Formats: sequence, structure tokens, C-alpha cells
Amino acid sequence: MLVADGIRPDTLMSAISTGRAPALAQLRAEGALHTVTSVFPSVTGPAYAPFLMGRYPGSVGLPGLRWFDREGHATSRWHRTRSYVGVDFGKVDTDLDSTTPTVFELAQPALGALHVIGRGLPPQHRIGGSLGFGLYALATHLRGGVDGWLAIDRRIADEFAHRVQRDRPIFAFCALTGIDKASHATGHDSPKVFEALSIVDALAGRLRDDALRDGRWERTHLWVVSDHGHSPVTQHDDLATQLRHWGLGVRAHPWVMGANHDTAVMVSGNAMAHIYVNLRERTRQWWPSHTARWQWLADRLLALPSVDLLLFPTSDRVCEVRAHGRGGARIVRERDRWAYRPETGDPLGVGPLEGLTLESAWDATAGSDYPDAIVQALQLAASPRSGDIIASAARGWDFRARWEPIPHVSSHGALHRDHMMVPLLLNRPVAAQPRRTVDVMPSALSALHIRLPAGLDGTSFF
Ligand SMILES: [Zn+2]
Repeated sequence: MLVADGIRPDTLMSAISTGRAPALAQLRAEGALHTVTSVFPSVTGPAYAPFLMGRYPGSVGLPGLRWFDREGHATSRWHRTRSYVGVDFGKVDTDLDSTTPTVFELAQPALGALHVIGRGLPPQHRIGGSLGFGLYALATHLRGGVDGWLAIDRRIADEFAHRVQRDRPIFAFCALTGIDKASHATGHDSPKVFEALSIVDALAGRLRDDALRDGRWERTHLWVVSDHGHSPVTQHDDLATQLRHWGLGVRAHPWVMGANHDTAVMVSGNAMAHIYVNLRERTRQWWPSHTARWQWLADRLLALPSVDLLLFPTSDRVCEVRAHGRGGARIVRERDRWAYRPETGDPLGVGPLEGLTLESAWDATAGSDYPDAIVQALQLAASPRSGDIIASAARGWDFRARWEPIPHVSSHGALHRDHMMVPLLLNRPVAAQPRRTVDVMPSALSALHIRLPAGLDGTSFF
């Protein structure tokens, strides 16, 4: 399983059709290229939970790249915040729901490279997991150079192919992040992105050639997928600064210490943000109980040009969704059925929908601006670690202007289709239509004849 982190379906399609990805073209000729949806937030880390756990990020405890620890069980009592961008990176595994197995725990022996979620993977089966590598990656991050990231990808790809050939794991996962870094710095269809994609292509080609030579190819599945898309961003709205202008004490990275914070702003990607209020409360209060004190904040946020949608978690089965000028609607889950009920408007633009199954909820929204938003909004809103308000950025905007090492010309993280639609390239035909990245892990287990654990959010397409 190769993650070409941040590749858009159209970018991959264009590379294949213009001969710039010959090995991936070969895979498509043998199998198929599908377009599926990622998860909300559409951001690296949380969006790996589908590949490695078959679950949505909200339900396994990874609501974002940054989040506020309302209960205070997981983080330092001095600030109660988490950011996986930096030193907290290694805490993903302990933050995860301990009762949900990872694919590494189910399919052994396994190999992982830049996997983010690694529970069950022994240190000697991890590539890029050492402290030395972490410091090198951090230095590359702070220097902000794309070429440094591409050099990392080449190193990781080489090591990964070598280890697959030598150790013959039954499951191997490799993420390459060069496409994402290049997209942020120079745009999703820039030459640097195609250079980064050629590293993924070369790796796929080498894995195939090695397997063919050893007579393993007939039994090998080789899949290439992405965790999110990308779209151009021309304007940055620093949400934390905005809230400070409105007179609030705001906790936001990198400065998370301090008293007198009324709110916390935790941005991912950078096109989504969790906004927390009443930081002293240790148990979650649903949005309706906040309206007396905080409705003004919701109204002001909604009026910002940078904000496209706001979600208001109302209970673990209901959330409100609002958009400026497009009114509000309610998303409701009743047992295994979802409904979308416009009230003062139709912010998702899909009309009223009742009695949706997981499949029909996807089908009804797949062609809209917000594919799979009904299921995705609710899985995140229901997470105990999510904000009291969840913001999804408008096209062309994101939510973080300060403290970014690379000036972003492209972003992701939001609910809209440029960020949610991703390619899924398989070297085999499928039995059922792949819809979501969360279907990838159960399908991998089926292909390996491993029994699926209970409680997965996805289903196998084999
Ligand atoms: Zn990114």
C-alpha cells in the first residue's frame, strides 16, 4: 500500500495519460483507477486512520493535526494541547483508541515507512521512525525546502523496496510526502509535483519488477492511494489572531502556555479548524448549551470570507451545519441511517435526504461540492476531542498565516471536493465499488484472508 500523500485524482490522471507515470499506467492497465473520498479533516495523520485502522479519525481519537484536550487525560496539564507537527508526533499511537486494532497488529510480519500510526509495528520493521530521522525531517520542515523532502522520499522509497524484497512482509505500507510538500510550496500541478510523483512511480515499478522476478507478482496486490487532495490558496486568515482582535484570550500553537484563555483555535491542514470555548470545563457540553455566551462568536465567524461551513456538534448523533448566505441544516444519525434536513437553507446543496445508508449517503453527495459530507461531518462532530465549533475553509482561503515555515500557495483539510476526492489505483479488479479510503484497510485484510475485526467503519471491496 503506497500513499502518494496529497495527490489529486486529476493530477494522477494527467501524469498517467501523458506518459509521466509509466509504472502507474501499467498498474491501471492490469487493474483499475477509482476515485474515492477521504475523511474530515482531510489532513495527513488523521486521514491515515482509514488506511491503517479502517476507521474514521473522529472515532479513534485523532480529530485533527492539532487539538485541545478538554478532559486533560492525554496531554500536559500546563496547556492541554496536542500538535503532531513537531515534538508530539510520536504520541499518535498512545492517543489512539486502544481497543481498535491497527492493520500492523492484524497482519504480521508487516513493514511500515512514514506510517504515522504504527502501533503493533516493532522498531526494526519501521522505516523513518528513528529519532535521528525525526530530527532530520524536523530540520527539513523548518528549512522549508521542497528538494529536501524529495531527497527524503528517494531515501525512504529505496529502503522500502529493499526491505520488501529482503524480508517479504505480508503487509507493507509506505507513505511518500513529497507531492504534498511540493503542492503546498508551488501548487498541485507544478513541475515539482510531477517530480515527486515520479518517485512514487519508480517505487511502484521497482516493487512490481522485483515481485515478477521472484515469481511473487501473481499473488501481490499493489495499491496507490492518497489521504487528501489540494487546492490553491491565495488568502490566509489567521483565525487565532482574528479571535484576539475580538477581545478573546486564545490558545493556539506555537504559544500554548498562559492563563486567561477563553478559547482555543486548533488548525489542521490549514483549511480546517477546531474552535473550543469555556476551556475550564472538563466535560463536553454540546453546542446548544453554549449559545447564550457564544452565539456572537459563531455569527462573527460565519461572516468571515475565509469560512465556508461551520459545524456545531449538538449531540453524539446530531450536528448543525451552517454557511454564510446559504442557511443552516441538521445532520442526524438514527441507528444505521443518516438524514440531512435543511432548516433555514441548504448549505451542502444536496436537498433534503432521509433514511440514507452508508452507501446511499455517499452516492447522494459524491457529485456535489461536499462529497460524503453527511457521514464525515457527523463522525468528526461526535468525537469527544473535537471543537465546539468546527470550521471548514472557503475555496482560496486557509486559517493560518503566522508561524508557517513554507508560504502556502495550496492547502487542504476542508470538506469540499478538491480536498476530499482522492485516487485509488489497484492492480486488480474489484468485486464492489470502492467509495471511501476507510474501505481500503478491510479490503487489504480480505485480500490477505484475515478475518475483519468488529466495529470497522469501512467495508471490503473484494
Ligand atoms: Zn499537507
